[in-house]
Formats: sequence, structure tokens, C-alpha cells
Amino acid sequence: MNYNAWFQCSEGCNDTYPLTEIIYRCKNCDGLLEVRHDIDALKSRRADDWKCLFEQRYMRTKYPYGSGVWGKKELVCPTIDDDNIISMYEGGTNLFWAERFGEQLGAPDLWIKQCGNSHTGSFKDLGMTVLVSMVKQIIAEGRDIRAVMCASTGDTSAALAAYASAAGIPAVILLPKEKVTREQLIQPIANGALTLSLETDFDGCMDVVQKLAARKDFYLANSINSLRIEGQKTISIEIVQQFDWDVPDWIIIPGGNLGNVSALGLGFLIMQELGIIDKLPRIACAQAERANPLYRSYQTGFTEFHAITAQSTQATAIQIGNPVSVHRAIRTLRRFDGIVDQATEEELANAAARADRTGLFNCPHTGVALAVLIKMIARKQILPDDRVIVISTANGLKFPNFKVGYHNVAPGEPLPRYLNKPLELEADYEGVLKQIDAHLNA
Ligand SMILES: *Cc1c(COP(=O)(O)O)cnc(C)c1O
Ligand SMILES: [Zn+2]
Repeated sequence: MNYNAWFQCSEGCNDTYPLTEIIYRCKNCDGLLEVRHDIDALKSRRADDWKCLFEQRYMRTKYPYGSGVWGKKELVCPTIDDDNIISMYEGGTNLFWAERFGEQLGAPDLWIKQCGNSHTGSFKDLGMTVLVSMVKQIIAEGRDIRAVMCASTGDTSAALAAYASAAGIPAVILLPKEKVTREQLIQPIANGALTLSLETDFDGCMDVVQKLAARKDFYLANSINSLRIEGQKTISIEIVQQFDWDVPDWIIIPGGNLGNVSALGLGFLIMQELGIIDKLPRIACAQAERANPLYRSYQTGFTEFHAITAQSTQATAIQIGNPVSVHRAIRTLRRFDGIVDQATEEELANAAARADRTGLFNCPHTGVALAVLIKMIARKQILPDDRVIVISTANGLKFPNFKVGYHNVAPGEPLPRYLNKPLELEADYEGVLKQIDAHLNA
């Protein structure tokens, strides 16, 4: 069967462009492009046969189909030759049953999708494998791309640098100076990318990179490029597959530039079109209160949207005031009867720390989603029977200062609720035992 996909305007124009064209916006109306699939061709395979095919490939060894992304290749990007695919076995991440945390909250069917357990430590790998593979294909077809580039809050750059260096393609990374963690910064450096620290915030980096990307010899890797969204949409397919093709009731996802929330939606919509599922979940997008332009828009029923200057937040990967994918995110939330909520710095830190006590190790963005989860349960928007998935977007190990800062309070600061300070003791049996007893009897 010949499956096909192409770029098409997301604002309704009929113009289409091949996926190998270097283009990010509609020539007609400047709207973002999205990847469209030949749905009739996909429908020629029955839903049960799709499920069967995906099950056969899932986490097996046949390259690249063991990857959670490329195991769904026909629904993601059927036009790339397997020879051009750069895969690092993306996806296949654990769906952590948060039994203990969920019980504390009154949500026993609570699951955390651990997208940060991945090659570069965030869900960004899911989209980057598709984008960089397409660049390899374009180069193989004879076009000259001198470099791939992106603006980043730290995770996109890590993913781009890793995939580009695996492909042997030069990468250029634009980061806001001193606004990413040391762990995030060292990733593109180690992978040999040209790493530029700009005296601005993420939105400022995005402005510069979009101007650079007007040149046809540079290829833009931000999520304005819908190829990334196609890879990321496998999150939804994989979650449903992990539940033996059952659809959950709620999905809570942290949002910054807002590409991922639309990716999540697209995954469900294509499964619905192919008859793989017969209902949709509701989606909650979680924002940091200090970077909440979508939350503010939601307060107006999405009738208004205003970009803001994002304030500094511990959730640095979503410290974005002018999200490039805001329109597609709003479309998604409308379609999925969605909501938007926000978390303060204290709420996100406490939610992450509280859940850490039940076996997790959450990044601050996951903390934002967990804080919103707690609020939704409190106002009975989520009920005990609901199956809830929280998308954990990155590995907590990429954000050590977030945790060190929480558990190592400066003198005079108020003590956080879930503080756990190490004790410094003499190496003395009696003294050590006394402390253990005191702790266990407390
Ligand atoms: C990129 C990122 C997000 C936000 O995703 P968007 O698609 O920009 O909304 C959230 N958390 C982490 C850890 C990220 O790296
Ligand atoms: Zn258009």
C-alpha cells in the first residue's frame, strides 16, 4: 500500500507542499502548516490490523520499527526511506501507576507517562527523530542544508544536537543565557553543536532563529515545524496501546510553546478516524502562573489571546510568553472539551516533592501538571473513577537545582512542606542508631 503525507495550511487554505520542501508557514495566509495524511489509504487497513501491526513491532529489535515513533511510521511520516531514519529507540516509556500518590489524592487510577526516560531526557526526542530523519532525506535527495537550528529552553536543543550529530549534520543552538540548567547546557556542547547563549529570554531567541530560518540553507527545528508534532503525537497512541487500546478520561500536560498539547490531540484524532478508538479523552493544559498566556486566554473563553513577557519560573522549559502554537492548541482544547489551569511556584514545587515521596523524581514541569491535578481533584472535576494520565515531560535529573533548592533551604527561609534534609553525624554506632530511632518513631 502507498501511504502518503504532505504539508497543508492549518488555517484552512488548500495549498499543499511536499514534506521535503523547506517551508514552515502557508504562502497564502502565513498560518502554520500541518502534516496531513492520506486517510483513505490508511483506512484500507482495518483497525484491528493496525493494532496487531503496532503490537508486533512495539519495543522489538527490527530497526527502526522497535522505536515507539517508527513503529507507527505509516501514521507519522510514511514518506521517509528507512535508510534515512535516525532513531534512538524513542518512546516505549514507562506508564507509571502512581498507586500510592493517587490513593493519597483520591484518584486511584492515576498514571504518569514517563516521557523523560528517553535518550536526551525529555519527550523532545519523539519529534526530533522525525525532523532530523527528514533533513537527512532532503540532503540525500541532493539539496544543500548547511545546518539545522533551533531556539530552546534547553530540551529541544539537547534533542536536536543528539540527533543531528548522529546524522552527521551541523547543528546551531540558540539558548537564553543563564536560563537553562547546567545539565541541559552541556548536552549540545558534548554533541558538538554550535551553542550560542544570547542575552535574552526564549521568546527573544525564537525571534532571531525565525529570521535565520528565512534562509533556505538553514533548516528550522522548532515545533513551528509540524514534522516534530507528528512524532510527538505517538504519545497518545502509545498510552492507549499500553492500556490495551482503552482511552483514559483525562490527560494533564504541561504547556509552554504549546506544540505538545496539539500533538497529543492529533494522536487521538487519527486513531479515532481509523476506528482504533471510539471516544476522546478530555485534556487539561497546565501552565506556570508566571508564564500563563494560555491560561489568561482561557479565562476569556479563548476569545482573546495576548502574548506576555514570561516571568522567571522554576519550570524553565515552559517559561514562554508568546507561544508559537497557540492557535492549534486552542483548537485542540476546544475539540477535547479541554481546560487550562495554572500553578504557582510554591504549588508546583510542593506537588513535585509530594509525589517524589511516592517513588517518582519529578521535573518542575511535571510538578506544574501535578499541582493542576491536585486542584482538579479538589474541585471534583476529576472523580475517583476517572482514569487520569499526567504527562511527565522531562527527567528530574536534568533539573537538580530545583530539588536541591527545595531540600536545602537557606537559613531564614520558610521550611517547605516536604523538606527532607540530610543529617551530618559522627561515624558512631550509638549516635547513628539514635537518629534512626528518632526518625522512625516520629
Ligand atoms: C518543551 C517542554 C515542555 C513544553 O512543551 P510545548 O510543546 O512547548 O508546550 C514542557 N516540559 C518540558 C520538560 C519541555 O522540554
Ligand atoms: Zn493558509
